Amino acid sequence: MTAAHVWDVPGQERAVAVLRGAAERGEVGHAWAFVGPAGVGQQAAARWLAATLNCPRPDPPCGACDVCARCLRGTHPALAEFVPTGAFHRVDDVRDTWLRASSRSLVEGRVKVLRVVDADRLNEAAANAFLKALEEPPPATVWILDVADPDELPDTILSRCRALRFPPWPLPVLEREAERLGIVDPAERALAARAALGSPLTLRRLAAPGGLDDLRAHRALPRRLREEVRPSRSPRRGRSTTR
Ligand SMILES: [Zn+2]
Repeated sequence: MTAAHVWDVPGQERAVAVLRGAAERGEVGHAWAFVGPAGVGQQAAARWLAATLNCPRPDPPCGACDVCARCLRGTHPALAEFVPTGAFHRVDDVRDTWLRASSRSLVEGRVKVLRVVDADRLNEAAANAFLKALEEPPPATVWILDVADPDELPDTILSRCRALRFPPWPLPVLEREAERLGIVDPAERALAARAALGSPLTLRRLAAPGGLDDLRAHRALPRRLREEVRPSRSPRRGRSTTR
Protein backbone atom coordinates (compact mmCIF):
# COMPACT_ATOMS: atom_id res chain seq x y z
CA MET A 1 0.00 0.00 0.00
CA THR A 2 1.48 3.34 -1.03
CA ALA A 3 0.91 6.55 0.86
CA ALA A 4 -1.47 7.76 -1.84
CA HIS A 5 -3.90 5.04 -0.77
CA VAL A 6 -4.49 6.41 2.72
CA TRP A 7 -7.56 8.44 1.69
CA ASP A 8 -10.35 7.26 4.00
CA VAL A 9 -13.68 8.27 2.49
CA PRO A 10 -16.14 5.38 2.90
CA GLY A 11 -18.58 4.76 0.05
CA GLN A 12 -16.92 7.24 -2.33
CA GLU A 13 -14.20 5.21 -4.03
CA ARG A 14 -14.95 6.65 -7.44
CA ALA A 15 -14.90 10.28 -6.30
CA VAL A 16 -11.66 9.61 -4.43
CA ALA A 17 -10.07 8.05 -7.51
CA VAL A 18 -10.98 11.11 -9.59
CA LEU A 19 -9.65 13.57 -6.99
CA ARG A 20 -6.47 11.59 -6.38
CA GLY A 21 -5.85 11.28 -10.10
CA ALA A 22 -6.34 15.02 -10.58
CA ALA A 23 -3.94 15.78 -7.71
CA GLU A 24 -1.30 13.37 -9.03
CA ARG A 25 -1.44 14.96 -12.48
CA GLY A 26 -1.43 18.49 -11.05
CA GLU A 27 -4.85 19.09 -12.61
CA VAL A 28 -7.00 19.86 -9.61
CA GLY A 29 -8.18 23.12 -11.18
CA HIS A 30 -9.91 25.81 -9.17
CA ALA A 31 -13.48 24.63 -8.54
CA TRP A 32 -15.37 21.40 -7.92
CA ALA A 33 -19.03 20.73 -7.30
CA PHE A 34 -19.48 17.72 -5.02
CA VAL A 35 -22.97 16.70 -6.10
CA GLY A 36 -24.90 14.45 -3.74
CA PRO A 37 -26.99 14.27 -0.57
CA ALA A 38 -25.45 15.95 2.50
CA GLY A 39 -23.06 14.04 4.68
CA VAL A 40 -22.02 11.17 2.39
CA GLY A 41 -18.30 11.98 2.49
CA GLN A 42 -17.92 15.50 1.07
CA GLN A 43 -16.16 16.75 4.19
CA ALA A 44 -13.72 13.85 4.36
CA ALA A 45 -12.94 14.13 0.63
CA ALA A 46 -12.31 17.88 0.87
CA ARG A 47 -10.03 17.40 3.88
CA TRP A 48 -8.08 14.58 2.23
CA LEU A 49 -7.69 16.76 -0.84
CA ALA A 50 -6.34 19.59 1.36
CA ALA A 51 -3.92 17.11 2.96
CA THR A 52 -2.83 15.85 -0.47
CA LEU A 53 -2.17 19.36 -1.74
CA ASN A 54 -0.33 20.51 1.39
CA CYS A 55 1.45 17.49 2.90
CA PRO A 56 5.20 18.16 2.69
CA ARG A 57 6.22 14.50 2.46
CA PRO A 58 6.96 12.68 -0.80
CA ASP A 59 3.98 10.90 -2.40
CA PRO A 60 1.38 12.93 -0.43
CA PRO A 61 -0.80 12.56 1.53
CA CYS A 62 1.20 10.61 4.10
CA GLY A 63 -1.79 10.74 6.48
CA ALA A 64 0.59 10.84 9.44
CA CYS A 65 2.38 14.20 9.50
CA ASP A 66 1.24 17.29 11.39
CA VAL A 67 -0.04 18.97 8.21
CA CYS A 68 -2.16 15.95 7.26
CA ALA A 69 -3.46 15.64 10.83
CA ARG A 70 -4.55 19.27 10.95
CA CYS A 71 -6.12 19.13 7.47
CA LEU A 72 -8.10 16.05 8.49
CA ARG A 73 -9.23 17.73 11.73
CA GLY A 74 -10.19 20.83 9.75
CA THR A 75 -7.81 23.10 11.66
CA HIS A 76 -5.05 23.73 9.08
CA PRO A 77 -5.07 27.36 7.83
CA ALA A 78 -4.99 26.17 4.19
CA LEU A 79 -8.48 24.73 4.69
CA ALA A 80 -11.66 26.71 5.29
CA GLU A 81 -15.22 25.45 5.48
CA PHE A 82 -18.15 27.83 5.14
CA VAL A 83 -21.48 26.81 6.66
CA PRO A 84 -24.64 28.93 6.14
CA THR A 85 -25.38 31.08 9.19
CA GLY A 86 -29.12 31.04 8.48
CA ALA A 87 -31.38 29.51 5.86
CA PHE A 88 -29.07 30.85 3.14
CA HIS A 89 -25.51 31.96 2.62
CA ARG A 90 -25.65 35.76 2.74
CA VAL A 91 -23.77 38.23 0.58
CA ASP A 92 -22.01 39.60 3.70
CA ASP A 93 -20.65 36.13 4.45
CA VAL A 94 -19.36 35.84 0.89
CA ARG A 95 -17.66 39.25 0.91
CA ASP A 96 -16.41 39.33 4.49
CA THR A 97 -15.39 35.71 4.89
CA TRP A 98 -15.14 33.72 1.67
CA LEU A 99 -13.54 36.29 -0.61
CA ARG A 100 -11.24 37.47 2.14
CA ALA A 101 -10.10 33.87 2.68
CA SER A 102 -9.52 33.35 -1.04
CA SER A 103 -7.46 36.54 -1.51
CA ARG A 104 -5.41 36.12 1.68
CA SER A 105 -1.93 34.75 1.02
CA LEU A 106 -1.05 31.57 2.84
CA VAL A 107 1.26 31.81 5.82
CA GLU A 108 1.50 28.05 5.84
CA GLY A 109 0.86 25.40 3.20
CA ARG A 110 0.80 25.49 -0.60
CA VAL A 111 -2.80 25.34 -1.79
CA LYS A 112 -5.95 26.70 -0.18
CA VAL A 113 -9.01 24.47 -0.13
CA LEU A 114 -12.19 26.48 0.46
CA ARG A 115 -15.30 24.38 0.93
CA VAL A 116 -18.80 25.82 0.77
CA VAL A 117 -21.24 23.61 2.67
CA ASP A 118 -24.80 23.70 1.23
CA ALA A 119 -23.63 25.77 -1.75
CA ASP A 120 -27.10 25.32 -3.28
CA ARG A 121 -28.36 27.66 -0.56
CA LEU A 122 -26.86 30.91 -1.88
CA ASN A 123 -29.26 33.81 -2.12
CA GLU A 124 -29.12 35.82 -5.34
CA ALA A 125 -26.84 38.60 -4.07
CA ALA A 126 -24.48 36.04 -2.53
CA ALA A 127 -24.40 34.03 -5.77
CA ASN A 128 -23.51 37.16 -7.77
CA ALA A 129 -20.73 38.11 -5.37
CA PHE A 130 -19.34 34.58 -5.39
CA LEU A 131 -19.49 34.35 -9.18
CA LYS A 132 -16.87 37.10 -9.44
CA ALA A 133 -14.46 34.99 -7.38
CA LEU A 134 -15.03 32.03 -9.68
CA GLU A 135 -14.56 34.14 -12.79
CA GLU A 136 -11.20 35.43 -11.59
CA PRO A 137 -9.76 32.52 -9.63
CA PRO A 138 -6.91 33.46 -7.31
CA PRO A 139 -3.80 31.29 -7.68
CA ALA A 140 -3.37 28.13 -5.61
CA THR A 141 -7.00 28.13 -4.48
CA VAL A 142 -9.48 25.29 -4.90
CA TRP A 143 -13.17 25.91 -4.24
CA ILE A 144 -15.32 22.95 -3.30
CA LEU A 145 -19.07 23.41 -3.45
CA ASP A 146 -21.30 20.87 -1.71
CA VAL A 147 -24.39 20.69 -3.89
CA ALA A 148 -27.35 18.51 -2.94
CA ASP A 149 -29.66 19.99 -5.59
CA PRO A 150 -27.86 21.29 -8.71
CA ASP A 151 -31.12 22.93 -9.90
CA GLU A 152 -30.83 25.35 -6.96
CA LEU A 153 -27.43 26.67 -8.08
CA PRO A 154 -27.14 29.22 -10.93
CA ASP A 155 -25.73 27.67 -14.13
CA THR A 156 -23.18 30.46 -14.24
CA ILE A 157 -21.66 29.01 -11.05
CA LEU A 158 -22.18 25.33 -11.80
CA SER A 159 -20.66 25.61 -15.27
CA ARG A 160 -17.42 26.92 -13.75
CA CYS A 161 -17.06 23.85 -11.51
CA ARG A 162 -15.99 20.34 -12.31
CA ALA A 163 -18.89 18.18 -11.14
CA LEU A 164 -18.17 15.07 -9.14
CA ARG A 165 -20.93 12.77 -7.95
CA PHE A 166 -21.16 11.75 -4.29
CA PRO A 167 -23.83 9.02 -4.32
CA PRO A 168 -25.70 7.70 -1.27
CA TRP A 169 -23.77 4.98 0.56
CA PRO A 170 -24.31 1.38 -0.60
CA LEU A 171 -25.70 -1.14 1.95
CA PRO A 172 -22.43 -3.00 2.72
CA VAL A 173 -20.69 0.29 3.53
CA LEU A 174 -23.59 1.31 5.79
CA GLU A 175 -23.45 -2.09 7.54
CA ARG A 176 -19.71 -1.71 8.18
CA GLU A 177 -20.34 1.78 9.53
CA ALA A 178 -23.16 0.44 11.74
CA GLU A 179 -20.68 -2.03 13.21
CA ARG A 180 -18.15 0.74 13.77
CA LEU A 181 -20.86 2.76 15.51
CA GLY A 182 -21.37 -0.07 17.97
CA ILE A 183 -24.41 -1.98 16.67
CA VAL A 184 -23.29 -5.46 17.66
CA ASP A 185 -26.16 -7.66 16.44
CA PRO A 186 -25.90 -8.45 12.68
CA ALA A 187 -29.69 -8.39 12.20
CA GLU A 188 -29.86 -4.96 13.85
CA ARG A 189 -26.97 -3.75 11.69
CA ALA A 190 -28.81 -4.90 8.55
CA LEU A 191 -32.03 -3.25 9.75
CA ALA A 192 -30.28 0.06 10.50
CA ALA A 193 -28.39 0.00 7.20
CA ARG A 194 -31.59 -0.56 5.19
CA ALA A 195 -33.50 2.11 7.12
CA ALA A 196 -30.71 4.66 6.64
CA LEU A 197 -31.57 4.85 2.90
CA GLY A 198 -28.01 5.62 1.87
CA SER A 199 -27.40 8.32 4.47
CA PRO A 200 -24.65 7.91 7.10
CA LEU A 201 -26.22 10.84 8.98
CA THR A 202 -29.48 8.91 9.36
CA LEU A 203 -27.49 5.82 10.30
CA ARG A 204 -25.74 7.75 13.07
CA ARG A 205 -29.12 8.78 14.49
CA LEU A 206 -30.29 5.16 14.37
CA ALA A 207 -27.11 4.00 16.12
CA ALA A 208 -27.57 6.51 18.95
CA PRO A 209 -29.12 5.19 22.19
CA GLY A 210 -32.81 4.43 21.60
CA GLY A 211 -32.49 4.99 17.85
CA LEU A 212 -33.38 1.45 16.82
CA ASP A 213 -36.28 1.33 19.32
CA ASP A 214 -37.61 4.54 17.74
CA LEU A 215 -37.23 2.93 14.32
CA ARG A 216 -39.20 -0.16 15.38
CA ALA A 217 -41.92 1.97 16.91
CA HIS A 218 -42.06 4.03 13.72
CA ARG A 219 -42.15 0.90 11.56
CA ALA A 220 -44.95 -0.52 13.69
CA LEU A 221 -47.03 2.60 13.17
CA PRO A 222 -48.46 1.78 9.70
CA ARG A 223 -49.29 -1.74 10.95
CA ARG A 224 -51.04 -0.33 14.02
CA LEU A 225 -52.99 2.09 11.86
CA ARG A 226 -54.08 -0.80 9.63
CA GLU A 227 -55.23 -2.71 12.70
CA GLU A 228 -57.17 0.31 13.93
CA VAL A 229 -58.91 0.53 10.58
CA ARG A 230 -59.78 -3.18 10.49
CA PRO A 231 -62.76 -3.18 12.98
CA SER A 232 -64.58 -0.67 10.77
CA ARG A 233 -64.21 -3.11 7.91
CA SER A 234 -66.23 -5.91 9.52
CA PRO A 235 -69.59 -4.07 9.34
CA ARG A 236 -68.81 -3.33 5.67
CA ARG A 237 -68.19 -7.01 5.11
CA GLY A 238 -71.61 -7.61 6.73
CA ARG A 239 -73.18 -5.06 4.42
CA SER A 240 -71.63 -6.63 1.38
CA THR A 241 -73.54 -9.89 2.02
CA THR A 242 -76.81 -7.95 1.91
CA ARG A 243 -75.96 -6.51 -1.52
ZN1 LIG B 1 1.40 14.32 5.48
